[in-house]
Amino acid sequence: MICSYCYDTQIHPKHDVGHWWNNPLDSVYVCSDKCYTELEKLVKNRTWMDHKPEAIFGKKKRKLSPSFDKPSPRDKGPKSVTDKQFTDDLGKFMT
Ligand SMILES: [Zn+2]
Repeated sequence: MICSYCYDTQIHPKHDVGHWWNNPLDSVYVCSDKCYTELEKLVKNRTWMDHKPEAIFGKKKRKLSPSFDKPSPRDKGPKSVTDKQFTDDLGKFMT
């Protein structure tokens, strides 16, 4: 079992958060209230795909890549949308 926020292994799952990605129950967990809150923020501001937990990436700062790290033309950076958010957004245009 791995926490989807801090990526600690062998956690005692505290919250099932799979529904944020429309995943089935018992597949996506966080280990604590803190991880739940932090991951929820990332999902809401749509940056969860850029989250780089220290457990995997270490504390070292990555060297910026000129092609991927320059500001996007929209000046908002890449956004990672969950299936659910995508469908919700789609709903706005279908009314
Ligand atoms: Zn955690």
